[in-house]
Amino acid sequence: MSKTTKYIFVTGGVVSSLGKGLAAASLGTLLKHRGLKVLIQKFDPYLNVDPGTMSPFQHGEVYVLADGAETDLDLGHYERFTDCECSRLNNLTSGQVFENVINNERAGKYLGKTVQFIPHCTDEIKNRIRKVTDAHDADVIITEIGGTTGDIEGHLFLEALRQFSLEVGRDNVCSIHVTLLPYIAAAGEIKTKPTQQSVAKLREIGIQPDIIVCRTEHDLDEDNRAKIAMFCNVEKKNVVAFRDVAHTIYECPLDLRRDKLDRLVSDKLGLESATPDLEKWRHFVDRIINPTYETNIAVVGKYIELQDAYKSIYESLTHAGAHHDTRVNLVRVDAEQIAEEGATNILKDVDGILIPGGFGDRGTEGKIIATQFARQNKIPFFGICLGMQIATIEFARNVCGLENANSTEFDKSTPHPVISLQEEQKGLTTMGGNMRLGASIATIFLGTKAHELYGAETITERHRHRYEFNPAYREQLESSGLKVSGVSAEQGLVEIVEIADHPFFIGAQFHPEFLSRPNKPHPIFAGFVEASLSNTKSKA
Ligand code: GLN
Repeated sequence: MSKTTKYIFVTGGVVSSLGKGLAAASLGTLLKHRGLKVLIQKFDPYLNVDPGTMSPFQHGEVYVLADGAETDLDLGHYERFTDCECSRLNNLTSGQVFENVINNERAGKYLGKTVQFIPHCTDEIKNRIRKVTDAHDADVIITEIGGTTGDIEGHLFLEALRQFSLEVGRDNVCSIHVTLLPYIAAAGEIKTKPTQQSVAKLREIGIQPDIIVCRTEHDLDEDNRAKIAMFCNVEKKNVVAFRDVAHTIYECPLDLRRDKLDRLVSDKLGLESATPDLEKWRHFVDRIINPTYETNIAVVGKYIELQDAYKSIYESLTHAGAHHDTRVNLVRVDAEQIAEEGATNILKDVDGILIPGGFGDRGTEGKIIATQFARQNKIPFFGICLGMQIATIEFARNVCGLENANSTEFDKSTPHPVISLQEEQKGLTTMGGNMRLGASIATIFLGTKAHELYGAETITERHRHRYEFNPAYREQLESSGLKVSGVSAEQGLVEIVEIADHPFFIGAQFHPEFLSRPNKPHPIFAGFVEASLSNTKSKA
């Protein structure tokens, strides 16, 4: 293990959905701006091996890493806020811990011992932290523990952290507890008791937090800071306010900087680091809050009512908007409503239409109608993964006249399977982790919109799908005007389709939203927002 690596553990108390992931990611931003090499990871106490099999209703978006790991959406925040690249080692679940322990037991690796939560499961967790340490040359590894203190599920992880702190030395570990300070309007008061109780619970299992980060709607006055410090046994300066931000999550690092969280952590860990230069970040945030222009972009999906189902797409639109000094007004459209009412009324005022990824046939006919509307009315269109497949189906049906063309995912007996299963997917009977997953290289053809946007002939993008553009239809679709502008380097699978005779019409089989970063928007998103903005301006 590297002698110099320092560890920050972020736990949460009082309630879930506190913004613990954002607190961890924001701390990562600040430490990175202090010139440190930061890695962030998440331990999730649930029993799923990974969130890949969970519904968006349960868990929001599944975030895909370069190595193909299907992970918690907080890893998206981590990669975006610190511009780091996570790996499958960086999202450990109880499911993985137990799977490994049981596999070891069946393989006879415990040499006849009774296999127990402690030490076998806790060892598994500690070993993971050591593995991550060895695999990266990080100055600091931030580990967020999912769930809330007091949950039975999380106990094993907290016990492992307690042991780990002892093993690496307390000077090398900083424990941060993120809690909620509820505001009782009738009394006009912030309440600190739940925080005190949550910290008491942590202390019961031997963890004394070094810093308390308090989520609060209102400013934290000195009296309350003193009270929390006294009851939670931390220094008063280590009680940090994490206020509700008014406009965008990218304000969070700036808010945490007010109480100098990054400096407190650096001091505790004895890290030598510089005062962070946040000017570019501030400029980025300012562009989000006070842009010159606006444009309306519809996202036509089936999980539209969920805040988190298309998280990375929404973030990518924000990054691209900031780049073009433009506010992207999201118009969330339920695909099923379009199937019932048609596209015209619902989409008449939007300047761009985006169809996100998805699984299963609910909503697909509505998405096809929305795509046809975008194609025929020359509205900038961007289809992602399923959205690209939808664009292909729509073109096959309505331009090539291939009646009932479809994906075999939605209609097994379609006469024109323009999207179909790849050979290696056909015999699969299980669900977890066996799609086409992770980063792969594609070749972009010269003279295409894709080439103009990327400015490169070779790109690397992340995937998560089973079905593919059926090469048997490529010639027919291309000769009618659906141009293939990129193919996978290894197998020649169609990666990007576009229509030349259109202001902006692109479908990507991969997920560009996983590569967009603040101040580094993804080129297709940047092009799409630019085209939507020109569309807005042309109407003015
Ligand atoms: N359901 C489609 C497939 O599996 C698209 C997947 C997606 O949009 N991520 O190919």
